[in-house]
Amino acid sequence: MRITEKLMVKDQLISFEVFPPKSDSAFDSIEWSVRELAAFNPDFMSVTYGAGGGTSQYTTKIASLIKNRLDTTALAHLTCASTPKEQIDSILNTLKENNIDNILAMRGDIPQGFQKPQGEYYTYANELVKHIKDYGYFDIGGACYPECHPECNSLEKDIDNLKNKVGCGVDFLITQLFFDNDIFYSFLDKVRKKGIYTPVFAGIMPITNMKQIDRIISLSGTKLPNEVKIFLEKYKDDPKELEKAGLDFAINQINDLLGNGVNGIHIYTMNKPYVARTVLKGINR
Ligand SMILES: Cc1cc2nc3c(=O)[nH]c(=O)nc-3n(C[C@H](O)[C@H](O)[C@H](O)COP(=O)(O)OP(=O)(O)OC[C@H]3O[C@@H](n4cnc5c(N)ncnc54)[C@H](O)[C@@H]3O)c2cc1C
Repeated sequence: MRITEKLMVKDQLISFEVFPPKSDSAFDSIEWSVRELAAFNPDFMSVTYGAGGGTSQYTTKIASLIKNRLDTTALAHLTCASTPKEQIDSILNTLKENNIDNILAMRGDIPQGFQKPQGEYYTYANELVKHIKDYGYFDIGGACYPECHPECNSLEKDIDNLKNKVGCGVDFLITQLFFDNDIFYSFLDKVRKKGIYTPVFAGIMPITNMKQIDRIISLSGTKLPNEVKIFLEKYKDDPKELEKAGLDFAINQINDLLGNGVNGIHIYTMNKPYVARTVLKGINR
């Protein structure tokens, strides 16, 4: 089922994000995680796309497993920063041949030292969205940033750019992860006031270890509420308690969002079935 069709029959969707393997040798263990996650019956599962091209061939393979063998709606990520324009139609053809009808269209980031293949590229995600819209067939998702995209110097400008992207054909939006729901509510208010009425799914990443949180902050600049800073300090030498506190925090965050009528929760599962299991057990669905 397409994500827009799901939204017609359900008010609030719960979805998982997984990443594909980087090599054939890792395929089996990732397939195991994906199967375990699909067994929790999420409304859809999204599969990331390696901006450096390294994992891109596996995005379709994992999305196809989700859709065709696990009977779960699949959302394939696609980025244009590392995919030449002339390759896009062949990727769209392959996704279509595999019955995958939802794409999360993004710009992506070029990893340091990555040599782009020769070719012409789109500069921003809105151009990729328009390309996919003109191709037809797919439901199209876009990324958005409650705390502003790191390269944009104001949230207002970022939301103007978002409006332009949505106007090119975005059917739903998924946010960057955040830990402070008030920041999300204020963003949503600004988005709606700008006339963007597309469903917005809140991206939630349960904190499970210290290394992960350091990486997240350095990549996205996400603000940490005091409550999080306190448990990170308290349990910095106790990984088990830290994970428990991180999962409890995510459960409370999600329950608050669901209670306030969010269109959906997109859980960055990091391919860990126990993370999804614990969160699903704790939330009021
Ligand atoms: C839910 C989610 C999933 C993700 N999955 C992946 C993944 O699988 N693989 C991956 O590599 N990355 C992924 N990313 C990261 C994403 O690719 C990066 O954050 C990237 O830097 C921006 O992508 P975008 O599609 O939001 O870009 P855009 O919408 O193009 O925006 C990028 C920047 O350009 C500005 N901008 C946009 N349009 C214009 C314009 N017309 N003129 C001037 N400025 C403009 C925006 O304000 C913003 O600052 C994901 C992000 C999210 C939130």
